[in-house]
Amino acid sequence: MVRTAIVVGGGIGGAAAAASLAKSGVNVTLYERGKELREIGAGIFLKRNGLAVLGKIGCYDDVVGKGTWILRGELWESNGRAFVDRHLPEKAVIVVKRADLHSSLVKAAVDYGVTVKTDSIVRGATPNGELFLEDGRTDKADLIIGADGVGSAVRDSLGLNDYIKPTGNGSWRVLVPRADSDPTSKVVEFWRGHRRVLITQSGNDATYVCASCRDDDRGAASETFDRKVWGDHFPEFRGLIDRIDPALTSRRQHIKVRVNGWRKGVVAILGDAVHGQPPNLGQGAGCAIANAGALTDILVARGDVQVALREWETEQRKLTEQIQSFSNRYDDVVHAWPLALESLRTAFVSAIGTFTPTKMEWARLSQGVKQI
Ligand SMILES: Cc1cc2nc3c(=O)[nH]c(=O)nc-3n(C[C@H](O)[C@H](O)[C@H](O)COP(=O)(O)OP(=O)(O)OC[C@H]3O[C@@H](n4cnc5c(N)ncnc54)[C@H](O)[C@@H]3O)c2cc1C
Repeated sequence: MVRTAIVVGGGIGGAAAAASLAKSGVNVTLYERGKELREIGAGIFLKRNGLAVLGKIGCYDDVVGKGTWILRGELWESNGRAFVDRHLPEKAVIVVKRADLHSSLVKAAVDYGVTVKTDSIVRGATPNGELFLEDGRTDKADLIIGADGVGSAVRDSLGLNDYIKPTGNGSWRVLVPRADSDPTSKVVEFWRGHRRVLITQSGNDATYVCASCRDDDRGAASETFDRKVWGDHFPEFRGLIDRIDPALTSRRQHIKVRVNGWRKGVVAILGDAVHGQPPNLGQGAGCAIANAGALTDILVARGDVQVALREWETEQRKLTEQIQSFSNRYDDVVHAWPLALESLRTAFVSAIGTFTPTKMEWARLSQGVKQI
């Protein structure tokens, strides 16, 4: 039986895991290296897999009440024409502010009795459930979950890492005050060359902008967002781009994480620690939340930790890796397609977007579900 659990990392994945386990009666301690639990960043898409778990944790109404349902998705090509225009099912895609999602998960965790220890840098864990911190403290539990992000110390201490490498691309994400001309209840993704902007509504007061380019794009890949470069490249959105405060932006490289296992002994890893991926399907956090919820369900059903972890990995890993692989390929199409053949990219994406099997696969993986 699982009576005690340690969660390492208080990001979206760790907070979801802590809340979910504590709600089912487990005594949870969460270790976070930061001085407080907080989520920086802008908006975030949540889909069916993550939303279902928010429902079980009791955060659904709170999170959804602050977000915007997205009903339409458009993909624009260089000439400013929408070459994919898709109606999305109702209540399947929502954009919320990251801080709202995270604080709702943290509040649930604390309400269910999770003990939070901030300023606590974890060095690693052993398969039998011992935890070691940088400052010499140790702890022990029936279950340890490493949700400590792409650089996961828990994962690395157990030798579960295969590779952790940059994709060669990166992005800025930011919230700007809304204007009447901004997209409403829809997401617009605009590709021009190897640069991309994504624009969508996040609540009544904000528009969420995410821009990405290659790391070797000398004109655009600066640490903070360069409004002039991006406004010149996407003049259709100059008014919106001019509303971005560069001081609020910081470019993040897209990192791919590949592991040789999700668990060792009574330790499991989840979130970016296990499936770090470029942000193309809006599923990094979705998978983390979904896998946290599934782990709790299986633990409750099985009782024995090692049996439950084995079943959890068997049940969840395939879908997560399919999502990750699709997202990696999407990144290549956006950022590595030969520019001399740019018009062929439009034709290619249009074709696969209307070919029923790939359309269904896209719908399934972007919702993070086994069957649509
Ligand atoms: C531009 C961009 C847009 C995205 N958009 C979406 C989206 O729309 N939808 C979506 O689902 N996903 C999206 N993602 C992905 C999503 O943000 C991540 O998958 C998710 O936030 C990962 O959460 P996590 O808890 O696994 O990791 P993290 O958020 O990295 O949290 C890890 C936590 O562990 C702590 N930590 C690290 N090391 C230690 C240590 N040694 N000891 C103690 N604590 C430690 C950290 O301080 C941090 O709090 C996007 C990502 C990017 C870059």
